[in-house]
Amino acid sequence: VVEVTAGALNQPIGGLGAVLVARNVSAQKQVERMRQDFVANVSHELQTPLTVIRGFTETLLDNPDDPSARRFLELIHEEAGRMSRLVDDLLTLSRMEHHSMPMTRQPVDIPVLVESMAVKLAPRIEAAELTLDNRVPQHMPLVSGDPDLLAEVLMNLVANAVQYTPAGGLITVSMALDVGSHMVGISVKDTGIGIPAQDLPRIFERFYRVDRARSRASGGTGLGLAIVKHIMELHGGRIEVKSTVGAGTEFIVWLMEYESEQGG
Ligand code: ADP
Repeated sequence: VVEVTAGALNQPIGGLGAVLVARNVSAQKQVERMRQDFVANVSHELQTPLTVIRGFTETLLDNPDDPSARRFLELIHEEAGRMSRLVDDLLTLSRMEHHSMPMTRQPVDIPVLVESMAVKLAPRIEAAELTLDNRVPQHMPLVSGDPDLLAEVLMNLVANAVQYTPAGGLITVSMALDVGSHMVGISVKDTGIGIPAQDLPRIFERFYRVDRARSRASGGTGLGLAIVKHIMELHGGRIEVKSTVGAGTEFIVWLMEYESEQGG
């Protein structure tokens, strides 16, 4: 309200007009603020790996025969990989925000997506000493959506479960149909570290992490859940999360059943 100019207050529509203008100004300010925060975040996220890369290349240029040369090269490679993932995720987000994401609507067989996700993530799951329990029955109603984007949702959620679950833990994927609403729910549940209640509403924000060091150590970009949320919005679906610190986290995504959307 402080932002309202005298001109706006003097408009014939009086009070209503002033409130309207005030809201617009503060909304505009908020958008600008968010843009600035975003640019600062991206710069910081890119700066961190660059600092590591520059440090190790300088060391190698000074001492090309350093006995740790190979290790330094591995670290440089790792950091370059992080930058690549970050740029990929940023491009995905930006395409989605500008509605230039190619998206198809077709019948999608979730059990098939779960199966191929399990194959792709098997080495990571094994390395982390975790068990994946795929409880999705082979024959389930088809959902309406884009198979590539939905595969990305699944990959992101299960990859997070792997990242945030200590060795010996269990990741369970299951699926159910809500007959009344014709919605299909897909659940990814872990027995991991959990998310504190006060952080839960913010985890879908870009670059929001509960534990920055932990996310970084596991190679996270902080954009995975922002992308998941966007994909769910594009599908007209929704995502729920329940979590207990020290016990585990469950994400459930809800999508429209294919048949019902076709009016059948
Ligand atoms: P990141 O690349 O950091 O994993 P995400 O956007 O995928 O970024 O997730 C945001 C944050 O949400 C993570 O940094 C982590 O703190 C929290 N988080 C996401 N999934 C889980 C999970 N399954 N268990 C515990 N914390 C999680």
